[in-house]
Amino acid sequence: MPPTRPTFRILAADKLAQEGLAFIESQPDAELVNKPGLSEDEYAAIVGEHDAMIVRSGIQVTEKILANPGRLKVIARAGVGVDNIDLKAATAQGILVVNTAEASTITTAEHAFALMMALLRNIGPAHGTMAAGGWDRGKYQGRQLCGKTLGVIGFGRIGQTVAERALAFGMEVVAFDPFINAETMLDGRVRMFTDFAEMVPHADVLTFHVPLNDATRGMLNAQTFALCRDGVYVVNAARGGVVDESDLMRALESGKCAGAALDVFTAEPPPADSPLRKHPHLLTTPHLGASTREAQQAVSVDAAAACLAYLRGEGIQGAVNAGGLKIDLTPMQGRYVDLARRMARLISPMITRGIACVTIEVVGKDLAGGASMIERQALVCLLQDYLSDPVNIINVNEVAERRGIKVRTVQSEDDKLPGGQLTVEVTGPAGATDPTTPAADQTRRIVGRVYDDHQPRVIEINRYHMDMVPTGHMAFVLNEDRPGMIGIVGAEFGEAGVNIADMTISRRDDTAMMVLKLDAEAPEALLNRLKARPGILKAAAVQLGD
Ligand code: NAD
Repeated sequence: MPPTRPTFRILAADKLAQEGLAFIESQPDAELVNKPGLSEDEYAAIVGEHDAMIVRSGIQVTEKILANPGRLKVIARAGVGVDNIDLKAATAQGILVVNTAEASTITTAEHAFALMMALLRNIGPAHGTMAAGGWDRGKYQGRQLCGKTLGVIGFGRIGQTVAERALAFGMEVVAFDPFINAETMLDGRVRMFTDFAEMVPHADVLTFHVPLNDATRGMLNAQTFALCRDGVYVVNAARGGVVDESDLMRALESGKCAGAALDVFTAEPPPADSPLRKHPHLLTTPHLGASTREAQQAVSVDAAAACLAYLRGEGIQGAVNAGGLKIDLTPMQGRYVDLARRMARLISPMITRGIACVTIEVVGKDLAGGASMIERQALVCLLQDYLSDPVNIINVNEVAERRGIKVRTVQSEDDKLPGGQLTVEVTGPAGATDPTTPAADQTRRIVGRVYDDHQPRVIEINRYHMDMVPTGHMAFVLNEDRPGMIGIVGAEFGEAGVNIADMTISRRDDTAMMVLKLDAEAPEALLNRLKARPGILKAAAVQLGD
C-alpha cells in the first residue's frame, strides 16, 4: 500500500476568491475549512486545529487568536499589507507569515502606468466634458510620454515593472532606491540614484513605489518639490502619505506640479469635501492598484500554494516574518541548507554541556545569498532536541538570543574550494567542559561540502578527517586507537541484530572515530553496552533520514 500523505487543514478565515478555495479542494493532501466572519474568540478556539490560516484584510489576527496555536504553522495574507496580523506574536510562536505581493505586481504597475498616461492626456476631464455634452479639443491638449524622463522612486517589484513599460514607450528612466547598490539597472537602461534630491531634477514625471515608513513619509514635500522641474507630473500608487497632500495641493496651485494622479490617500476614503477630490489637475482612483480580477484570483491561489509549499517542506514563498531569509534558494544553496541540517544533527549528540556560541562559516560566493537559511537550519537542528518550546526557522534566532546563545555566521570566498564548504562550530559555556574530552576538543566542529555529484559530504568531525555521505541511521564510536576495537564494535552490533552497512574510520593522536551507517536504528541498550567496553570512549547514534 502506498504511504498515506498527511492531510493539512487549511482555515480560510476571510472571504477568498472561488479559485483559491477550488485550488485547496483540488489538492490531495489538503482539507479546506471555509469559515470567514467568526469572532476573535471563535477563531482563538479553533485556530490550533489547523495547519494554515489564510486571511485578507477583513480579520485582525491578534495575539489572543495566536495564544494557543496548536498545529498552526503558517498564516498567509492573500494580498500585500499585513498590518492586520500581529507579526510579533506570530514570530514568537514560530508561525511563518507570508503574503502574496508578487501576484499584484503587474496589476499595480499597469495601474500606475494607466494613471500616468491618462494624466498626461487629460483622459479623465476630457471624458467628463463629453459626458456632460461638451466637446473641447483645445483645452485638453496633452503631453507625449516618448522622450520624457520618468523618475521611479522605489525600484522593487512594481517600480521595475513600471520602468520596463516606460522604456518600451520610449521614455528615459532614472530611479532612486538607497537599498540598491548599482549604478544602473535593467541592463544599463536605468540610471540609479541613492539620493532623492539628486534624482528629482532629472524627471518630468515622478512615480512612487516605496513602502510607507518614517523615511518615505512625506518624501515629496515643499522642499523636494522645489528641486523638481517646473511642471513636473506626479503619480502615487504606493501608499498615501508618501506625497505630502497639502504641499501637493500648493504645488498644483502654483503650477510647479502640472498634474498628479493618486490611487492612495493619507485617509482612505478621503473626506467627501476633500480638495483632493476636485482639483482640475488631479486624477484620482479609489485604491484600485491591485484590483483586477486576475490579481484577486492569483492572490488567493498564491496564498494557498504558499501555505502548502511550506507545510510540505518545499520552501518558503513571500515570507514576511522570516527576517533576512532568502526565500528563493538556488539549487546549490538548497543542497547546503540540507547539508547544514544533516551536519547539525550529526554533532548534536556530542553536545552534552550546553551551547554558548555557534559559529557557522559559509565559504563560496554562490552560497552567500543562502547563508541566513543555512544558519537558521543548522541552529534549529542543534537546538530542537534540547528545548521543549517549539523551535523552527522562523523563531530560531529569537529563541537563541533569548537564551544568550551567540550566533556568528562568517561568509567568505575561496577559489580553492569550488562548490563551497560549510563549517559548524559549537562552543559550550565557560567552565562547562567535558571531562572525557581533551581541552583542544571542547569545541565541537563539523565540516561538510557538496561535490559535483550533488551528494552532501562530511569531511571532518572534531578534527577527525573522513569522506562520508550523511544519510539514514548512523552511529559514532570514539575509541582508543588499538587493535581489536573494530572487532568489539562489530560483535556488539551483530549481537544486537543491527547490520553495519558502511564504516569510515579516522585516526588522530591515539584515538580513532568510527562513523557507521546502519540498516536499522541502534538501540539505547547497545550504545550503553558499547560505552561500557574497555577502550570505547563514546558512542552515540543519530537518525538523519534520506
Ligand atoms: P518592493 O518591496 O518590491 O519594493 C519596494 C522598494 O522600495 C524596494 O526596492 C526598497 O528598496 C525601496 N525602498 C524602501 N525604502 C525606500 C526609501 N526610503 N527610499 C527609496 N526606496 C525605498 O515592493 P512592491 O511590491 O514593489 O510595492 C511597492 C509599493 O506599492 C508598496 O508600498 C506597496 O504597499 C504598494 N502597493 C500598492 C498597491 C495599490 O493597490 N495601490 C498594490 C500593491 C502594492
